[in-house]
Amino acid sequence: MTPEGEALLRQGMGELGLELSAEQVEQFRQLHELLLQGAAQMNLTALRQERDIVLKHFVDSLTCLRGGWLAEQGVAGEKRALDLGTGAGFPALPLAIVHPELQLVPVDATRKKVDFVARTAAALGLTQVRPLTGRAETLGQDPEHRERYGRVVTRAVAALPILAELALPFLPVGGLLVAQKGPITPEELEAGTRAAAEVGGELRTVEPFTLPVTGDARTLVIVEKVAPTPPKYPRREGVPNRKPLF
Ligand code: SAM
Repeated sequence: MTPEGEALLRQGMGELGLELSAEQVEQFRQLHELLLQGAAQMNLTALRQERDIVLKHFVDSLTCLRGGWLAEQGVAGEKRALDLGTGAGFPALPLAIVHPELQLVPVDATRKKVDFVARTAAALGLTQVRPLTGRAETLGQDPEHRERYGRVVTRAVAALPILAELALPFLPVGGLLVAQKGPITPEELEAGTRAAAEVGGELRTVEPFTLPVTGDARTLVIVEKVAPTPPKYPRREGVPNRKPLF
């Protein structure tokens, strides 16, 4: 990472209220290198410019900390958080750098992405990160994972009605879904609220905000699990996407 990239990283994180230690900056520098290397070998991320990686992957990932829902308000049960559809490790890896106390399980359906996240977490010394290959539809029905995470965080994975069905099964009652999204339409919100109710969730807050430096529109959606999810959810692989609940 160039000195300009590092300055941008500090500026963006500063606007989120995060002051990085020298060790954390070094971890982000390594993550940047490994991401570029990984992207050269496989279809890992569309973003290749340093500025984009710093702002749209690193800083954007940590906007999930807004409001303190993810890490500060006490995670129900264990401090375990699942990153649903982590891709190349976002938001899981930046989150692990700034919140080493969180037990993070980044999940993705694509093995080569999960292998990258595992290698990268090991290289960065992030031993609390335990990546897992699998589909949410299958893992959400597995007793080892169902209702076992105090938080599910997810960035840019699906529309809210689909996310509700995929994410809520992982939470115990009292757990929270923290969904990082771009701009959200009233229709998506309405359908998402209904889908959440069907799987035991209740919309807690919808917070529109802008990404530091770029000013891009973002929304943080928080859904609380208020009742057990009926056993039939999540439905089998691909069905939540093909036939969203609402
Ligand atoms: N969260 C990352 C980010 O913000 O850079 C990746 C976003 S990418 C657009 C969506 C990812 O979700 C893909 O890597 C895909 O494999 C994964 N995904 C989508 N549906 C999934 C499911 N049902 N179970 C597991 N992973 C899923």
